[in-house]
This record gives sequence, C-alpha cells and structure tokens, in this order.
Amino acid sequence: MSKSEVPEKSKEGVRDMSTTKTTSNNFIKNIINEHMETGKYGGRIHTRFPPEPNGYLHIGHAKSIYINFGIAEEYKGLCNLRFDDTNPIKEDVEFIESIKEDVKWLGFDWEDRLYYASDYFERLYQFGVQLIEAGKAYVCELNQEKVKEYRGTLTEPGKESPYRNRSVEENLDLFERMRQGEFADGSKVLRAKIDMSSGNLNMRDPVLYRIQRSTHHRTGDKWCIYPMYDFAHPLSDAIEGITHSICTLEFEDHRPLYEWLVSSVNVEGPPQQIEFARLNLSHTVMSKRKLRQLVEEGYVDGWNDPRMPTISGLRRRGYTPESIRDFCERIGVAKANSMVNIAFLEHCVREDLNKRAPRVMAVLRPLKVVIENYPEDKVEILDAENNPESPEMGSRKMPFSRVVNIEQDDFLEEPPKKFFRLAPGREVRLKHAYIIKCEKVIKDESTGEVIELRCTYDPETRSGASTVGRKVKGTLHWVSAEHALRADVRIYDHLFTKENPDEAHDFKANINTDSLETLDSCLVEPHLEGAKPGSRYQFLRQGYFCVDPDSSDQLVFNRIVSLKDTWAKIQKAQGNK
Ligand code: ATP
Ligand code: MG
Repeated sequence: MSKSEVPEKSKEGVRDMSTTKTTSNNFIKNIINEHMETGKYGGRIHTRFPPEPNGYLHIGHAKSIYINFGIAEEYKGLCNLRFDDTNPIKEDVEFIESIKEDVKWLGFDWEDRLYYASDYFERLYQFGVQLIEAGKAYVCELNQEKVKEYRGTLTEPGKESPYRNRSVEENLDLFERMRQGEFADGSKVLRAKIDMSSGNLNMRDPVLYRIQRSTHHRTGDKWCIYPMYDFAHPLSDAIEGITHSICTLEFEDHRPLYEWLVSSVNVEGPPQQIEFARLNLSHTVMSKRKLRQLVEEGYVDGWNDPRMPTISGLRRRGYTPESIRDFCERIGVAKANSMVNIAFLEHCVREDLNKRAPRVMAVLRPLKVVIENYPEDKVEILDAENNPESPEMGSRKMPFSRVVNIEQDDFLEEPPKKFFRLAPGREVRLKHAYIIKCEKVIKDESTGEVIELRCTYDPETRSGASTVGRKVKGTLHWVSAEHALRADVRIYDHLFTKENPDEAHDFKANINTDSLETLDSCLVEPHLEGAKPGSRYQFLRQGYFCVDPDSSDQLVFNRIVSLKDTWAKIQKAQGNK
C-alpha cells in the first residue's frame, strides 16, 4: 500500500440544529466559527499570506494562499498579501513580482492590501526601543557561536549572557548606535530578555535584531540593522490588525514568543495563531532552498520549468488555476503531517480538462500511410466534434486526403492477441473518417524498419454517414500529411524517482534523469494553426497538452498529464473506490 494518502473530500460546513453551531471537518473553520459565535475580534476576520520573497511559490504555498484568501472570502473578511522581507541577502524583486503574479493567477485578490514588513522597519525599531525601556531586551556582544552555545539544549538549561544585565540607558545608547552604523556586522545583536531556562528554546533570549550591511531591495542602504523574522512577523501581523494568523506546524513552538512580543509592546493583538500541516507531495521536493538548488545547479530549466512544483512551473506545464484550487480544497487541512501522492494532483487537472479542453488529433511518432484507392488530388473536409463531454463546444473541420500519418505504435507487423490496431490485412477506423485496410508494408531496406503502409479505404464507411454501419474494433487518430503542422512535444515525468526524495541523505541522488523527453517530428491537425500560448487540448488517446507559453517562435506542446488515471488505480488498490 502506498504511504501517500489523501483525506476524504472535505465536506461543506454542516449546521448542527441542536446547538445551532456550525461545525465542519476543517478544524481551522471550527475555531473561526467559535470566534464568530463568542464575538472574539468583534466578528472580524482578517488573515494574511506572508511569503518571504526569497524564491518562487510552490504548490505548498498554494495551499496556504487557498486557506488564507479562501477563509477571508468565505467569512466576508479581508486577506492581506504581505512580504516578510527582512533578509535582504536572500531576497529579490524578481521573487516579489513572481509571487504577485502567482497569487493573482490562482484567482485571489489582495485589493489595496499589499504590504511589506520593510514598510514597518521604523515602527519595528521603535518596538525594540520599547522592549529595552521595559527592561525586556538588551544588546548582547556574544558572537553567533557563543549565543548558540549559551542557549543550551532541550535537556539542559541555557546560560545567561554576561551582557544581560546592562542598564536601560546603556542598551538604548547601544541600540541607537547599532542603527547609526557604529559597529561592525555581527558584532552586536539585540536580544529579548525572557528566560534562559525555559523548556522552549525559542524563549531563551532570542535574537531580535542583527547588524548586516546589505542593500535592501526596497529600503536601499537606509538600514544596517535588520529585524529577525521571529520579531518582525508577529509584530507585522499585529500592526495590520490580523485576527487569525494561520501558519504551518513548525511555528507552533514560536507561538509563545510571538504572544510575548506582541503583548510587551504598544500594539493591539495578538492574533489567534492556528497551525496546520504543510503540504508534502510525493516524487518532488517542496522547500524553496532545494528548489533553488535545482535551478542554480542546472537540473531544471529555471523556476518555471514544467517539471517543477512551483506555481509558475505548473502554469507553464498547463495546469489550470481551478484544478489547483480544487486540489487544495480536496486535500483539506490537518494537524498531522502527511504526504499527498502527486497522482492526486494529476487526477484533479485531468478531471478539470476532461470537460474543458477541446479534443484534437496529433501524431507524436508519425508513420506514413498511403491510401491507394483514394484520388491523388482529392481533399474532403470532415466534421469532428470538439468534446463529447461538452457538446456545446461544437465541432471543427478536418481535412482528409490520400496520404495520412498514424502513430508508429498503432501498427504491428505481428500483432499479439488483443491488439486491435493496424496489422497486415487488418482493418481499423480512422477517427471521424473511414475504415482503412492495411495491404502492404514498406520497410527500409537497410534497417528493416517499417517506414510506410499501403492501405485501401472503404468509401462506404465515412463517419457520421448513415450508410453501412460496419464496425471494426480499433479506432486510430491520424492527420492528413499535406495539411498537418509540425510541432515539438515535450513529455514530462516526475522529477524524482523516489516517492520521498528527502529520505535520501542527498535528495539529488534520486533525481529522475529521464524526466524530459522531447519529440521533434510530431504532426498536429491544421486546426491548431495559430493556437494561443497557454491554450490546452486533449490529444486524442494521448493526454492533455498545453502550448508552451515560452516558445513563441514555433509550436511546442507540453504534456500536462497522460490520460491514464494512476490515482484511480491507487484508490482501487487501497479498496476505497
Ligand atoms: P519553504 O520551507 O518552502 O522555503 P517557507 O515556509 O519558508 O517555505 P514562506 O515564504 O515563509 O516559505 O511561506 C509563506 C507561507 O506559506 C507561510 O505561512 C508558510 O507557512 C506557508 N507554506 C510554506 N510551505 C508550505 C507548505 N508546504 N504547505 C502549506 N503551507 C506552506
Ligand atoms: Mg519561511
């Protein structure tokens, strides 16, 4: 049985009539419902999505975006987009722009509430001053190593810094001079004065400010001290009047510190922090640090490589925002970490595209077929329905002529049992066209490879015509050689061979070296002339494909997913149909 799992589809909130209390299997909503009923935060719901602009967003972030913006939407509240941009060394405007684009593309709107922690640098500094004045922070001169050494361990209490009992005046003076740039990088830090023997390591006088001369993408060289994430994050939430600070489980142990900070300075709050399990997806990695390595070390073609689990990669691959939101809804929220099988994500996009994507014919590995009894110069224009699942999508015209191409593996010279495609002397139907019969096989003399088939067609069997309803077992897709367009098709496989690449000592040891196959002599039906970048199709019998938005000079298709629903198979194997 696979380790990967997906919780049952989350249900709508259910109203329990006996208590008139709204309950749902989404524990976050249950907490919020309770707050709505008790009037905590005056019935206000204000959430935020707070990325650090140090990489591109991935599907895990999509879950967080979906939860934060989704809850605001559902409870008629507000959701901010805030960049927690406190570490200029790792940050870049390129990431800010991509994050904004991704959130919008997913279908969410922060309206006029786009914020940056860096906008609060002055206020945050003043909060530092307030802590010092209250005797709750001090300037420490232990170096990084010593700070770590003094912190102790889970089993041993920490040791107090020799600088811990400086006077308020001295601390104020030093903090001010840190800001003025009087001291070298790393020579001093501002630390909270809490409890070096706390069972929670985060409460052992955590560092709040560091000296670091680096140019910030927004504040330039105005600052040479920067707040730590754990200081800036909860206080930024408080400044913005956030009511529900929804984050991932690893921040559970930081909550006491966050509450301590917010209640120690002059600001409203704290919000209710609610932790949920982060999304892990099989056959991929999800940390920005690791994704960055894949990009920088050239394992992929950039952050938006269609094999990446980034939102921009999924977009380029051809995923729809609807399918990603549907995925986020169906995986639900939980308190325990688990791994979702990537086949489930593929299942969601397949379901979405089954109804939406027009069906067309494309031959990925062409084999020439000459229909000997079809007139040389004749072209018939056939009617082909665009999507039997959605009849309102209508039909299109397809030319048929004497020379067509079919898929190489739709022909076998010596067919095994149950092979209902073409073989010598056999008949098949060409989809939307005629029944043809294979009369002769032409091979390359030197290699023995089959290079052409000579066939005949039965003019009485045109699709849709009410003449002879003769049936054959196989139906093949095809294109008219004279009319088809040449295209490149990229077939993707999982980036990693193992379900959980993080299990290995080095995650890169499990990289799938065959994750990209480029087919460069594909033929697609002429209807696809001028197909817009990003448009999606079902290639009959092959899968869903998207016109690569980054290759505008020629027709390139990315395979989004095959038609084979591995998820359904996994479900069946597990016995839950
Ligand atoms: P990573 O660990 O991938 O580098 P991060 O947590 O450092 O991600 P942030 O930019 O800080 O990335 O994340 C913004 C928000 O997205 C945070 O609230 C974080 O909890 C949430 N988030 C990040 N990864 C996931 C995930 N895999 N599943 C759900 N939420 C996530
Ligand atoms: Mg983070």
